Formats: sequence, C-alpha cells, structure tokens
Amino acid sequence: MPSLTEEQKLLREILREDVHKLAGEIGDRNVRTNYKNLGVAADFIEASFQQAGFKVFHQGYEVDLVGLQGRPCYNLVVEITGSERPGEIVIIGGHYDSLEDTPGANDNASGTAAVLALARAFAGKQTQRTLRFVAFVNEEPPYFQSKDMGSLVYAKQCRHRHENIVAMLSLETIGYYSEAEGSQHYPVSPLGLIYPTAGNFIAFVGNIKSRKLVREVVELFRRHAQFPSEAAVLPEMLVGVGWSDQWSFWQEGYPGVMVTDTAPFRYPWYHTQEDTPEKIVYDRLAYVVSILEKVVAGLAGCKQEG
Ligand SMILES: [Zn+2]
Repeated sequence: MPSLTEEQKLLREILREDVHKLAGEIGDRNVRTNYKNLGVAADFIEASFQQAGFKVFHQGYEVDLVGLQGRPCYNLVVEITGSERPGEIVIIGGHYDSLEDTPGANDNASGTAAVLALARAFAGKQTQRTLRFVAFVNEEPPYFQSKDMGSLVYAKQCRHRHENIVAMLSLETIGYYSEAEGSQHYPVSPLGLIYPTAGNFIAFVGNIKSRKLVREVVELFRRHAQFPSEAAVLPEMLVGVGWSDQWSFWQEGYPGVMVTDTAPFRYPWYHTQEDTPEKIVYDRLAYVVSILEKVVAGLAGCKQEG
C-alpha cells in the first residue's frame, strides 16, 4: 500500500472518529439489548447525513419478534438523483446495529463510517445514475435473514416500487488487516488453496447471478488501488457468502456484492465484546475507502472519476 496522501490522512481521522463514536461512545446498539443506543446511533447517522447536506428518508418498521413489538426501527436513506439515467440505481449500504452486547467496531461501525464518508464525498455532486447511501438496521441475529432484517425490508420495498437496482455494495466489516501468515481462514478448506493465507486483502464477494457486478467492481478497484484484493463468485448457500445485507437484495433478484475483510474468517474479535475501536487498522481502512470512492464514481457515472 502506498503511503497515505494528505486527503487520505484526513479521511482516516474522520473514519477513526466515527468508529469511536459508534462503537466507543455509543457501543452496544441492538433492538433487544440496547434499544436506546440503537436510536442514538440512528440519530448520529441522520445528523451526519444532514451535515453533508442530504435530506434523510426514514424507512420505519416494527420487528415482529416476541417481546420486541412496539419498538420502531429505521433504515436511513439519502439519495442523489441521477442526471441522465435516474431509473438506474446504485446502492451503497452498511448495517449500523451491533450484535447483542457487543460494541461492534469492525462489525459494523467500520462499514457504517465508510458509508458516511462516501456520502460526504458525493454530497453536492452530480451522478448519471441515481446513487443512494443506506444505513441498515437489524442485520445481526436473531433478525438476520428473517423478515425483521432491515435490508430485507428495504429490498422488498425497492422491488414493490419496481425499482431497477443495478448495483448494491454491502460494506461489511472492512477494517482489519494482517500480514501474518495463517491469519486468513476460509469457510471451506479448498478456498485456502486458491486464496491467500495472509489476511491483508479486501474481498469482493457475490453470488452466481452477481458475477458481472463482481467483475466490474473489482476491475474498478484494481484500476485505482495498489492494495491486495480478491474476488469471489460463490453459491450463496456456502457458509459466509450471504452473511450481510447484499443477501437481502439477492432475495429480490438484484445484483449485490459484499465488500469485506472476511470478518469471522480473519478478525479474531468477531462478534465478541472485544470488537473495539482500537482493533481497526485505520491506515488501511482509509486507503480502501478512498479507492471505494473511485469505484462508486465509476458505478454511478461521475466526472470526478479519474
Ligand atoms: Zn455485520
């Protein structure tokens, strides 16, 4: 990885601040164990979008799980309407809830901070396609892959409105990197023969139907990055492949790609109380996010791509 530019250093500090806010100050943000904090996190995200100049849309719903009714939950959405092909929609999303009783720094304050950073980067810009940034609620179990999952509620609404989502990027646990041999694991051992054994790369994971999008995203990333990256097109039934919000879009027939450090297959503190802000490798996170900005520019059609 090249040394960070001044702009990337600034981005690093903003990402650090937002991860500390969500996972350090706020901490556990889950509808069952800390509903209040879930709301505080939503307020913080809404204020951040607004400060960037966006009007924030709330998609509210109540979870159906026994004992948790009467607690409204919100996906938060901002949009830049496309100037030339507004009907073609690119979605950049990440979940802002944490697993019960965990601070969720890498999972997924890292992805949420990246969604906010990217939204700021595109605020006030024109894109040819419609570009949406979405902070999803209730990705973690027990809502995961149930009708209470925020991104599934959202993807169903998109389908209901006959929206043409041409690309969905799910930013899921993107802040941990290690050069140590053997730091990278895989859901099935044959993948370890093909893919690296050091967890120093960013991964782009799609289901079979999303293979074109995976290729496009990885090509855009590699055009701009000097950073290890791996692409994987895998059956969505394989362990880990559907473990984030892109899964919801797949269910509705949309193409989606998970952008991830591979979470449980690399990060030693995955889904524990030790998933705290100082575990994040901010230099690399900032570099990856700065390149994702170019990827999003390429997907949405934006002059700033260069
Ligand atoms: Zn997650």
